[in-house]
Amino acid sequence: MHVGIIGGGQLGQMLGHAGRELGISCEFLDPSPAPPAASAGSVTTAAFDDPAALAALAHRVDVLSYEFENVPVDALATVADACPVYPPLRALTEAQDRLREKQLFATLDIALPGWHVVDSRGDLTAAAEKLGLPLVLKTRRLGYDGKGQALISTEADLDTAWAELGGNALIAEQWVDFDYEVSAIATRGIDGDVVVYPLTHNVHSGGILRYSRAPIKSPPLEHKAAEYIHRLLEELDYVGTLALELFVVGDSLFANEFAPRVHNSGHWTIEGASVSQFGNHLLAVTGQKPKAPELRGHAGMLNLIGELPPEARKPLDTGAVLHDYGKSPRPGRKLGHLTLVASSAGERDARLARLGESVTGSTPEFGTAQ
Ligand code: AMP
Repeated sequence: MHVGIIGGGQLGQMLGHAGRELGISCEFLDPSPAPPAASAGSVTTAAFDDPAALAALAHRVDVLSYEFENVPVDALATVADACPVYPPLRALTEAQDRLREKQLFATLDIALPGWHVVDSRGDLTAAAEKLGLPLVLKTRRLGYDGKGQALISTEADLDTAWAELGGNALIAEQWVDFDYEVSAIATRGIDGDVVVYPLTHNVHSGGILRYSRAPIKSPPLEHKAAEYIHRLLEELDYVGTLALELFVVGDSLFANEFAPRVHNSGHWTIEGASVSQFGNHLLAVTGQKPKAPELRGHAGMLNLIGELPPEARKPLDTGAVLHDYGKSPRPGRKLGHLTLVASSAGERDARLARLGESVTGSTPEFGTAQ
């Protein structure tokens, strides 16, 4: 089978590498001439909404997929008759607009933080009255890694946030004083078979994912998260891998957002599971059954952001495996990640802390998540 992937970033790269092991080839469409995925398949250099390039790609491949959620839906819809597109376009439409996403969560009875649509400065005042402070103001579209967001802690911040983001379609969200963050990752096949990965604990800083650990021990949360992700997958008649990000407060979960694609918090599945989120995504979109992942131990992942320090390349006594995306350094840019797999949660955490210290100069805060 031959899969066309819109986007050629690191997620495309990892999809391409996973495909090689499964006998599935991938090719990519990306505006950059030498994107990370070039090491994993051929690349058409074109804008994501270039009609001729999309049509030619759709003609060459068995199925089209994508590796980021801001793919222009209208452009992809023009080739959907020529070639199946998975995950379905509706998943993209819902995920691209935070308002639609929240309405979808609410319809599916998935708990979420309070929110208020903000189209004017008056709406922002009303949001503060309704939700209280602090709150976070977000652009409804095109935000990622904390971009397009402003934290409003005091009345004075209202004007500053409005000056920064006003003019965009916005949404205000109640600030959740969460205990920690988790993600649920699952893959659904064309026949409706679903496999769910164990819940992953994620540590963010500055809106960017820094560390992930899996599995974590919390059967009630695991159960609830699986229920939520099943509801989403069914409602969207989803095919492929999906990630749902959630805040944990006590025994409760509140949905933050979902990504209709493979996800950074699932990178540990390459070394940590018998079948990765990437392999399962490709199995699903090519019409094969996703496989139940068997864990190889307790996995920890560290993102390499902004720079790839020499320590990340040294053979470390932590046994970590380096994934270098081949990107040039830039502040806030994800350049690679390190994954380790240990035989116990305690050993994983100790090794991950040692890794964090040697590579980033600071140790991670895992909080109350176990
Ligand atoms: P997002 O781009 O919406 O996923 O936000 C990036 C990160 O910012 C999240 O993973 C959280 O760490 C933090 N964050 C976003 N929204 C909220 C919220 N409503 N309450 C608390 N933290 C948040």
